[in-house]
Amino acid sequence: MEKLALQGLTGEELARALGVSVEDGRRIVAQVHRDEDPSTPNAGVRRAAREAALARGYVPALEVITERRSQIDPFVKYALRLADGHVVETVRIPLEREGRFSVCVSSQVGCALGCTFCATGRLGLQRNLETWEIVEQVRVVRRGIARDRLAARVHGVVFQGMGEPMANLDRVLGAIRVMSESSALAIDARNITVCTSGLPAGIRRLAREAPKVRLGLSIASARRERRRSLMPIARTHDLDEVIDAAAEHVAATGLAPMWAVTLLSGVNDTIDDADALADLVVAFRARTGATPRLSVIPYNTIAEDDDPFVRAPSEREDAFRDALAARSVFTHKRYSGGSDVAAACGQLAARS
Ligand code: SF4
Repeated sequence: MEKLALQGLTGEELARALGVSVEDGRRIVAQVHRDEDPSTPNAGVRRAAREAALARGYVPALEVITERRSQIDPFVKYALRLADGHVVETVRIPLEREGRFSVCVSSQVGCALGCTFCATGRLGLQRNLETWEIVEQVRVVRRGIARDRLAARVHGVVFQGMGEPMANLDRVLGAIRVMSESSALAIDARNITVCTSGLPAGIRRLAREAPKVRLGLSIASARRERRRSLMPIARTHDLDEVIDAAAEHVAATGLAPMWAVTLLSGVNDTIDDADALADLVVAFRARTGATPRLSVIPYNTIAEDDDPFVRAPSEREDAFRDALAARSVFTHKRYSGGSDVAAACGQLAARS
């Protein structure tokens, strides 16, 4: 019988799998997430439940290959080896409020969607990550924080590493359940964001099954033709279809989405682009009553030799933001740091 990866299950799921009480399931899960040996007899777990967990379960690990610390900001990028030799990347991101970190997790090895400005897209899809492999990325970061003796904790999680989370949604939802369960990682679901390139069915399912979780959407360009050229998935699901799903997400959850635009010099950084984006934001606000939290992200190079894009010069970025502000659309200058260790947005592409 296949062994159960204990850190990938909630207390209830574990109880069901082992045929033990939910109470015991939760206690075992709490032990696992405190990194205690599950054979420890003093956690109040009934003996039969403990024996079942030991017989059927294990706590597999991801091998930390590298832990690269940025010299220019407090980001840390981890390269983690999976049991089959594939490598994924995870990033520890310091939040503005001191003592809080967010973890940018990967949900797939590579990605099938091939967004032209993304390093992961160049790898193609190798495989989906298992639930425990997603959860374990947060545990690796948590251990790093403890080892660094930081008076800090993991405050949130953003699914914006390698992969399209909506294309591996069963496992992503499973990981969210574990992350947000109080006996497991105890991260407030409202501090979890799932970012997508725009898969409408996934957005709707996320709203139904994880209604406290925020939606992130990669817009790239509000000009439909330009978006199709940057993001092949937009040829299957056009922006209007994606916006419909995002509007339903607001109606179901009451949460304003996060929208992201990576600015590419001469590609999507013109005043016309800013105007089209302003139109989209204004229409969305009028339709849903929610104002998207708009992040304009400077492009970080994805290939030293044959990079198809160049970062928009700062004066164009400023003009872009000003054109939006003139329409009362305000942007967050998301600090996409860690670029010296390739930890910035769109740069995650560990090779096996
Ligand atoms: S941006 Fe996201 S969806 Fe697009 S290729 Fe990269 S990982 Fe895949």
